[in-house]
Amino acid sequence: MSQQNAPILFTGPDDLRQYISREKRMGKRIGLVPTMGALHEGHLSLVRASCEACDITVVSIFVNPTQFAPNEDFAKYPRTLASDLELLHSCNGTIVVFAPSVETMYPSCFNTFVEVGGITERLEGEYRPTHFRGVATIVLKLFLLVQQDVAFFGQKDFQQCAVIKKMVSDLNVPTQITVCPIIREPDGLAMSSRNKYLSQEERKQAVVLSESLLLAQKMFSHGEKDTDTVCRKVREHILTARDAKIDYAAIVDPETFEDCTELASGVVILLAVRIGATRLIDNIILNYSHSLIFCHKKCP
Ligand code: AMP
Repeated sequence: MSQQNAPILFTGPDDLRQYISREKRMGKRIGLVPTMGALHEGHLSLVRASCEACDITVVSIFVNPTQFAPNEDFAKYPRTLASDLELLHSCNGTIVVFAPSVETMYPSCFNTFVEVGGITERLEGEYRPTHFRGVATIVLKLFLLVQQDVAFFGQKDFQQCAVIKKMVSDLNVPTQITVCPIIREPDGLAMSSRNKYLSQEERKQAVVLSESLLLAQKMFSHGEKDTDTVCRKVREHILTARDAKIDYAAIVDPETFEDCTELASGVVILLAVRIGATRLIDNIILNYSHSLIFCHKKCP
């Protein structure tokens, strides 16, 4: 039976743990959706997927300081707990929100980190060298607290999903991982809490990311196999936006993250582009079967 009760809010790990172990004893299936809040339809698509698959959905809302470098946007990252709770109230299901303080998750004596090797060294890892260490650490802490059956992540953070899957496999973490499609604004821009930083003019320019990915998918559908040709076109298109600066535009194997020399179904194109001061990421998994799969707002 679906429910539309107000979310239950926990800020302390002990209360959350007690609640979960009681529910698990009653045979309830637990889903976890880790987020940094400032929720949008992208996050809600994960929450809905969890509500469909599980009896209880734990949504964590925590702006995790260890995944931000000192020069990044930790201080100005949007924090909107009241409206996040309202949005979650509109989802059908039993939702528990875990919104701890920084001191709760990282007391001053905290000194243990999770390092995933290999795939963290390229792309996001190159531009944000401490990022995945912070992500893996907080995600493992959440996994240990919630002991969920399934955790839901968005393809939007493609490399992050691979890092989490690797951590789960290497450390034998007993959880299933489900990756959900990227939800986009009607013009194709991937939804992100950071889109709020864009000025009106930058917001218009930001559409070049998704446009360039669709261009690549079209070239592939028309038989283009050469990655250099496609990568050049992708870059050219992105740079038609006046304020765009490319951190990377890479065509890689989805498991090793090594550059591909030939396009094939399943190969992924990963972008990180700064529009003015705002850094945006996006990606597409090339496919033969449907030439253009783009998931727009409020996917069923
Ligand atoms: P964040 O709050 O940005 O850390 O994101 C929390 C989760 O939501 C991550 O698993 C993201 O990949 C996912 N997510 C963020 N944006 C989107 C989107 N546009 N579509 C689908 N999932 C998303």
